[in-house]
Amino acid sequence: MKKVIILILFTVILLSACNPRNASSATGTPTGGTIKVLAVESFLADITQNLAGNRLKIESLIPLNVDPHSFEPTPADVVKIANSRVIIANGAGFESWLDKTLVNAGGKYILIQAAKDLKSRQPLPGEIGNTDSASQGIDPHFWLDPQMVVHYVETIRDGLIEADLAGKEAYTQNAQDYIQQLNALDQWITQQVSQIPPEQRLLVTNHESFGYFADRYGFKIVGTIIPSFSTGASPSAQQLTSLVDHIKATKVKAIFLETGTNPNLAQQIAQETGIKVVTELYSHSLTSANGPAPNYITMMKTNTSAIVNGLK
Ligand SMILES: [Zn+2]
Repeated sequence: MKKVIILILFTVILLSACNPRNASSATGTPTGGTIKVLAVESFLADITQNLAGNRLKIESLIPLNVDPHSFEPTPADVVKIANSRVIIANGAGFESWLDKTLVNAGGKYILIQAAKDLKSRQPLPGEIGNTDSASQGIDPHFWLDPQMVVHYVETIRDGLIEADLAGKEAYTQNAQDYIQQLNALDQWITQQVSQIPPEQRLLVTNHESFGYFADRYGFKIVGTIIPSFSTGASPSAQQLTSLVDHIKATKVKAIFLETGTNPNLAQQIAQETGIKVVTELYSHSLTSANGPAPNYITMMKTNTSAIVNGLK
């Protein structure tokens, strides 16, 4: 309790020391003035930066290569949130800690939930059923389908216009341009995936994250090591045995792991079933500029290549 009070006091002092809302527009970049926009995940920061162009500089909250499912904001993160005017989150239950943190941080925000109004997918027949009750059956990983990201772009565009009406024209044009890039990405993925016969488009992943990708490009989720939309759960021995049986029966060729996840169980299952483990899926975080997933579009291309090569 004491900690919380100190944190609130610290936040109030910091806010009054450098009130960002009243700052006058200084010369130089960014041209949108001093509106602070904070995207929770790195891929959302990249998508938003494409819409913001040079009007706004978008920061991201969760560091690169950190699993958003297990993220817990530090006091410094709370200060960062308190100093922001616009917060961009995925929504759909992905950031379970966010509501409480926004209240603790105080301040007045425009909260943009990119996945707002999108309908959760349902596991298809033959998929190992989702047993995740914590997320109330909502699969939040919409961004792994570029067509869903078109909706993200429209939602974020509208939020930016609400925060900075003077930038309306720029945000509208940038959004249109980026949607074109997303459509091109979608076509590229479709083309790449066509190298794999439909009956071999079978995925086993670490947790239930590639459902929307699977639905869009004709894959079937054979199973997941963690039978949950989050990475916080652990599979039971019975669930693992059932997954091993399922892999053997469907003749799936590989287990795909998101980076940053523990490969031990996957390797154990791979050994038992005689299939390989592919470890380079970048699904929840971008990499640094020199890495294989420095922005959303490249992240999706890298993942597609890893999947296509893994199933060949
Ligand atoms: Zn996930």
